[in-house]
Amino acid sequence: MRDTANGGRDGVNAMASNAEVQRSAARVGSKALIREINEALVLDVVRRRGETSRAEITAITGLSPATVTGITAQLVGDGLLIESQVLRGTGGRPARLLQLGSVAVVAAGVRLSIDSVEVVLVDLRGDVVATHQESLQNVSPDAAADAVAAAVSAVRERVADARMLGVSVALSGIVDRPRGIVRHSGSFGWHDVPFAEMVAQRCSTRVVIDSLVNAFATGLLLLDDDLAERDAIIFSVGVSLGASVLVGGRIHRGHAGAAGGFAHGAPGPRDEARPCHCGDVGCLETWSSIGGMRAEIERRGSAGDALDGQEAGAVLDDGGRHLGIAMANTAKMFGPEQLVLVQAPELEGTAFERACREAFTLEYAHSETPAPPLALTPADTDVFARGAGYGMINELFTADAR
Ligand SMILES: [Zn+2]
Repeated sequence: MRDTANGGRDGVNAMASNAEVQRSAARVGSKALIREINEALVLDVVRRRGETSRAEITAITGLSPATVTGITAQLVGDGLLIESQVLRGTGGRPARLLQLGSVAVVAAGVRLSIDSVEVVLVDLRGDVVATHQESLQNVSPDAAADAVAAAVSAVRERVADARMLGVSVALSGIVDRPRGIVRHSGSFGWHDVPFAEMVAQRCSTRVVIDSLVNAFATGLLLLDDDLAERDAIIFSVGVSLGASVLVGGRIHRGHAGAAGGFAHGAPGPRDEARPCHCGDVGCLETWSSIGGMRAEIERRGSAGDALDGQEAGAVLDDGGRHLGIAMANTAKMFGPEQLVLVQAPELEGTAFERACREAFTLEYAHSETPAPPLALTPADTDVFARGAGYGMINELFTADAR
């Protein structure tokens, strides 16, 4: 048995080192890629530190002074870095400092919901430079792609001088980002829609798509240094449920974008009386999403399926309890340092929130390890569009993510 186990481990090690060799061989073989990675390294140092001298960049990155001089000259030429007028002594002669350029490049972040398209243009520093909103008349993929293209075109005109990196669209559902395909979206009723390509044909620029919760996570990662390089899970509850899994500060996407798809697991034996938009019955989505809770309130005969109606209290309590238990189960499996629950504003201060926290805490009552801290944050709608935009800007700082 021991031999087999060792053999397996050696095999894994051999595979890892082969992959390393192939990766480094590919990089040695491509000067363009090395340059791209070095540019990302330099930009990332300046992003993290603010005003930085070339000598500091050299010391931090380990690149040669000549390489740093060449790369920073190129980046200044492209407008991605600007030289400030401030001179600072660095022990030797005074050095001109570098900071991120603010007007050279922008990316469009889009939040697509079933009734509107919200676009923000963000610059290299993550600042919003323009916004625009259009209403969405129907949720067919063609109509949605038309509306996204129209909204991007409207906002693009307002910063005509900047180079557009591309468009990043966030929407609710299971999204295969590398392939640009919406695998499933309950809100839109889409299955296997190649939405990135559809928008790209209309916008003539690069387009990526992602789930709302991954876009939110991207925004948090860029803004909140506490999450950098950490293991965390971000859960979201709105019309649908979603989750984003961060491993070492990076979004883990799983096979075909399936990571975080906990909404369509069942909290117990599947309840036939709770049909889910995925085609199954009794999914967590039917218990704990706002869409699921509204449907259940209506099924119990409460008029208007309102979250504050007569039947709502018990439904919200059930919904929160099921989500709290599901979050604890997920956390015990994965062992994150931090959990975040992004919550639709209409759930704040309700029985849902109380039951969710209570159930989550109770799940750790007999646990050897303490519960990870659970932070609740409201789902401000513009955070999703900004996060989507940051995702594209962020590629400039992390060449290996392309
Ligand atoms: Zn389902």
